[in-house]
Amino acid sequence: NPETGNYTVPFIEGDGVGPEISKSVRTIFKAAKVPIDWVNCDIGPLLINGETTIPQTAVDQINNSLIALKGPLATPVGQGHRSINLTLRKTFGLFANVRPAKSIPNLASTYENVDLIVIRENTEGEYSGIEHEIVPGVVQSIKLITRKASEKVIKYAFEYTRSIGRSNLIVVHKATIQRRGDGLFVQTAQEMADKYPDVNLKLELIDNTVLNCIMNPEKYADSVSVCPNLYGDILSDLNSGLSTGSLGLTPSANIGETVLYEAVHGSAPDIAGQDKANPTALLLSSVMMLNHMGLQKYADMIETAVLTTITSGKEFRTADLGGSATTTSFTKAVIENLN
Ligand code: NAD
Repeated sequence: NPETGNYTVPFIEGDGVGPEISKSVRTIFKAAKVPIDWVNCDIGPLLINGETTIPQTAVDQINNSLIALKGPLATPVGQGHRSINLTLRKTFGLFANVRPAKSIPNLASTYENVDLIVIRENTEGEYSGIEHEIVPGVVQSIKLITRKASEKVIKYAFEYTRSIGRSNLIVVHKATIQRRGDGLFVQTAQEMADKYPDVNLKLELIDNTVLNCIMNPEKYADSVSVCPNLYGDILSDLNSGLSTGSLGLTPSANIGETVLYEAVHGSAPDIAGQDKANPTALLLSSVMMLNHMGLQKYADMIETAVLTTITSGKEFRTADLGGSATTTSFTKAVIENLN
């Protein structure tokens, strides 16, 4: 922003608890004096010729900034038009979703020292939105896998694994059954492996991965997993449960022509408007964003304040973590812990 000298970042607040957790992020960023001017980004949606579409103003805002922060968007079940989340992925070519799930030191959870990273293919697979009713009572739902999309996400996964210094890239699949679809995904990874001699490529069946994650999650601390869309969706929620026991803590980044940072959780309609939501997942997503922008000083300050608050005692935690704090009181405590 030439007037303030700050970065301009579009903010999609989202539905349900979205406005409450977004307010928390704005308040904490202001207190931490982060050099960002938020731009309210209204993504509609519009229904044009039966297609879910995002207003052009929002598309321009996000394309100009090459970055955005997003709250959860509710998807009506079984209605005629495509989910707005899917529309966002298509519009901005968001081909990979990076989902880290890490234990919080000193926060009691079923497991300790969990540090799992899943990269989910974000544009196709079971989420292609191609479904037909062939005859009444018979529906065909297509899982689309292309070499092009597989190459994009697997290349990113190899490079990401290398950039964070982990040794293994695990392709999670079910090519024993989905021989051609998952088979193409696996084959693409095998063909690319030569270019990354410093990363060990491993293959694992999704059912084994689920069992191994539950029995021995620390086994994955030196690995990154990459998988087709639906497996990634399910696996990353499992990882959130294993690492912290709450969806309210897991951040993510959608990588594409632009980078869209968002909490993994949904709009939590059961607690919306009650000042109960945990804003941590959106805050940690904003921390990933600050790191990406080279604003590490602010990222570290906010991350430390959030983690300190969560481990300061029950009265500072929100109800999803068994505490008694409200979104507002949690936000206030984080601000007090900023240094
Ligand atoms: P959800 O993640 O909204 O809620 C699941 C459970 O987790 C609920 O009990 C909820 O109260 C709790 N929870 C979620 N976020 C929380 C937070 N920040 N603090 C405390 N508790 C939290 O999943 P759902 O109920 O299956 O989905 C609700 C809506 O959200 C649906 O319309 C769905 O399509 C949408 N959704 C959107 C996204 C997204 O925008 N990325 C992701 C998942 C679901």
